[in-house]
Amino acid sequence: MHDQSNLQEVVAKLKQEAAELQTRIDEQRVELVSIQELETHVNLQSRELVTLQANIDKLHENATAGSSLFRPMPIPPDVPRQKTLILDLNGILCKIERSAIALRQAKDLGWPVLGSRTMWVVPRSGLREFLEQVLELFCVIIWTSRTERNTELVLEALESAGCLPLGVKSGQACRIWSQSHCDKVEGVSKDGIPIFMKDFATLEFWNIFTQDVLMIDDSPEKGMTNFPYYTLYPSTFTPLVTSPDDDTYLNSKLLPWLKGWEKSVKVTRDYVQEWYRVIGCKDPTDMLVDMFSPLSQIV
Ligand SMILES: [Mg+2]
Repeated sequence: MHDQSNLQEVVAKLKQEAAELQTRIDEQRVELVSIQELETHVNLQSRELVTLQANIDKLHENATAGSSLFRPMPIPPDVPRQKTLILDLNGILCKIERSAIALRQAKDLGWPVLGSRTMWVVPRSGLREFLEQVLELFCVIIWTSRTERNTELVLEALESAGCLPLGVKSGQACRIWSQSHCDKVEGVSKDGIPIFMKDFATLEFWNIFTQDVLMIDDSPEKGMTNFPYYTLYPSTFTPLVTSPDDDTYLNSKLLPWLKGWEKSVKVTRDYVQEWYRVIGCKDPTDMLVDMFSPLSQIV
């Protein structure tokens, strides 16, 4: 009797141990599946990274050799070469602001603040003089991704404060292009704003010779479909860190550089590639590569 009771206890204990063992096996099986899934995921990510890295290398290679899909055609020697300067509005010629706090700061620094209660405009120092000079040297396009209505309001504010030469706002002295001249792309920027591209195909539509075009814009994503060395990307003008007296960029830095470009017989691509550092700009190709680089998102 005593032995049978012992035997039952042993059997019960063994059953319990078997159940515990089964539970551990089940848990380990689940862990194994997770590990296998993780491994598959890592493999996929690595393969994707290799492909993207190869694309970046190719982009670098193409840009250096000037042989990308965006490579301009050679210039026929008998074609008269009128250079076209494209200027961005917000961040280059002025700053458009909606924040009352930012405006108070700008005013405290001594900036003139124009416009209405819904949209304020701070003109850059020496704007009128700069535009007068570039209008004499180039065919000028002021190209903004703002809507037509907003562009008109900004130009109105600038003109009424005497910051624009005659004929700019009316579009007689230069072309004024706005959002309808841009291409809207799928998705939004990292700030959640729709992206409107300034594609040089628009220039071709207007019979403007793209080899002699230079765009000055503070947003690299706006020109990412164009061959990189046709755009300079200076830092965004902000009246919150500089005072009007310290902002000498347009006439002391950019204008002399543009005069050099105007005199150069090289196509814009070669001139920019050689001289972008002098004006404190980053390599336009690097800026585009940075935008596409997957490394910051994956690592
Ligand atoms: Mg801008």
